[in-house]
Amino acid sequence: MSARAHRIKVREVVSETADAVSLIFDVPADLSGRFAYAPGQFLTVRVPSERTGSVARCYSLSSSPHCDDRPAVTVKRTAGGYASNWLCDNVSAGSILTVLEPAGNFSPRSLDRDFLLCAAGSGITPIMSIAKSALATGRGRVVVLYANRDRASIIFERQLRELTRRYPRRLVVLHWLESERGLPGTQGLATMLRPYRKYDVFLCGPQGFATVTTRALAYLRVPARAIHREEYRSLTDNPFERPVAVAPSELSDGAPPRREEPAVTANGTGTVRVEIDGSTHTLPWPRDRKLLDVLLDNGIDAPYVCRESACGTCVCRVRDGRTRMIMNEALIDEEIAMGLTLACQTLPESDDVRIVFDQ
Ligand SMILES: Cc1cc2nc3c(=O)[nH]c(=O)nc-3n(C[C@H](O)[C@H](O)[C@H](O)COP(=O)(O)OP(=O)(O)OC[C@H]3O[C@@H](n4cnc5c(N)ncnc54)[C@H](O)[C@@H]3O)c2cc1C
Repeated sequence: MSARAHRIKVREVVSETADAVSLIFDVPADLSGRFAYAPGQFLTVRVPSERTGSVARCYSLSSSPHCDDRPAVTVKRTAGGYASNWLCDNVSAGSILTVLEPAGNFSPRSLDRDFLLCAAGSGITPIMSIAKSALATGRGRVVVLYANRDRASIIFERQLRELTRRYPRRLVVLHWLESERGLPGTQGLATMLRPYRKYDVFLCGPQGFATVTTRALAYLRVPARAIHREEYRSLTDNPFERPVAVAPSELSDGAPPRREEPAVTANGTGTVRVEIDGSTHTLPWPRDRKLLDVLLDNGIDAPYVCRESACGTCVCRVRDGRTRMIMNEALIDEEIAMGLTLACQTLPESDDVRIVFDQ
């Protein structure tokens, strides 16, 4: 198992709604550096299974590193789901869970900005962390749009009310309840969000909500580069089990790329110099092998979770040379322009490449 996986005790389980609980972790002092996190990041939890040994599921941190003493995640039951129900039914104070260190790049570069934070259902978890952090450390305005089925399904209703009382001039919370207004639609959202169209947008929720909110923002001419999105889905990979080396042929017969890409052909091998965890490794990098696979094949404990370009855990920086990504769901244009890339999707385009894991 990766050295980034740790057994962590659950200190407390807080019931948030009829179908959501927060798990507050007791991170031992010697791991506090490894569990330092940015608002918006997530933990990956190992959930035991008699069928498969385990499954891995990501849960965003709902706590704020700036306001809360301990990290917490908030899990909402998924109807018919496995891990979320297992966690809600089996975890209690004192339980030990195996957890990967915090990861992900759904985090503002600066908290001193005006934020429009849009969430639906359990999508509130990273939004809550960002909102609390921005209010505590920044000076900008924070608007939270939160869509739910009905009042009973609002997670953190009391905390949001308290924050509004504490920051009356800086925080606005807009609830959209399906029981009162029907499903959120493009026009309704556009009307609601128009005053905040110049703010930095963070958006997290089920796909339908993300689609309609993105449409409303496009209608308001919010540039795509100002919109950060986190998509909730269950992992198909399991970083808690031994990494499986991926054959080069996987590139052509695996999940279809989102956009048209030139065929990848094995036309030689370059060299990659990788700086990670204080060590530098120089490795051969075949043109048709993804960077993460090359690292794992060489026994390097690179961070990763989903291997599908979505979670942003394997983000690293191209310092020299040229590379390209097969698929990218996690990085915005601005980050790519800064040289960031996802190791799980990166192929070399020049013979010598230097990569640094410093995010
Ligand atoms: C970055 C990120 C952050 C997230 N943050 C949150 C959050 O803050 N809060 C939250 O609630 N959710 C969050 N999610 C979603 C979360 O990771 C899960 O997708 C969600 O909890 C549903 O998982 P589930 O296993 O309950 O449901 P499903 O994934 O729908 O469960 C069904 C799956 O489990 C498999 N399965 C069924 N039974 C078994 C068994 N016995 N053994 C093994 N496999 C089995 C099935 O084959 C099927 O694939 C996040 C996701 C991501 C990517």
